[in-house]
Amino acid sequence: MGKRLILLGAPGSGKGTWSKIISDEKGLAHIATGDLFRAELAAETPLGCEVKSYMEQGALVPDELTIKLVEKALTDKNASNGFVLDGFPRTIPQAEALGELLEKRGLAIDVVINLIIDESILIERTLSRLVCIKCGQPYNAKNMAPAVEGTCDHCGGNVVHRSDDTEETLRKRLEAYHLSTAPLIDYYGNRDLLVAFSNDGPPSDETRNRLFALIDGAKGKA
Ligand code: AMP
Repeated sequence: MGKRLILLGAPGSGKGTWSKIISDEKGLAHIATGDLFRAELAAETPLGCEVKSYMEQGALVPDELTIKLVEKALTDKNASNGFVLDGFPRTIPQAEALGELLEKRGLAIDVVINLIIDESILIERTLSRLVCIKCGQPYNAKNMAPAVEGTCDHCGGNVVHRSDDTEETLRKRLEAYHLSTAPLIDYYGNRDLLVAFSNDGPPSDETRNRLFALIDGAKGKA
């Protein structure tokens, strides 16, 4: 059975980039609540319409909606074979709900990786980042651009700058992070699941090797 991981960290700390690499290489389901919400928004579903204003303002979507979305994704993506959670949980009630959802399935989290990055780098990195609106592949205009401008290397989808990656919205998302998400560091630390991981540089083999060694050493059976 594959590992069950959570990537925790401020917006722009590298959760999306590394979750994608880990899930691809280790064959784990990638569950990214931001990507799932963006897909609902793009398809103009009722849920998409409901979450639009929260996302545009850089506020957190209410827990109830977010938990329902994750419950569905855990089933849809066959998460019993292992998964990487990216951007979820973001609040203590979400973490508690996740614990219950997993317990019902006889599963548990193996490790929570807390990506640590200097806040000045984080703002710069977020303002230049890009994303494929079709498959969620992250890019960065400065050091990780797609081969053909505006086109995803993996699926040919449109690569765009996220409308919530502005300095003003990012400040709000950082506030939400400090207020609601940072308490999860203690929450998972107290459960002996948290490992800190310094991610200040651009993606590199050195970072990958360090990260994979950490995952392979986590207590669950790969
Ligand atoms: P992300 O792509 O992870 O940066 O998420 C983009 C936006 O989606 C966030 O700013 C929130 O508005 C919303 N969102 C994503 N994940 C969550 C979550 N776990 N709880 C609440 N809101 C979320």
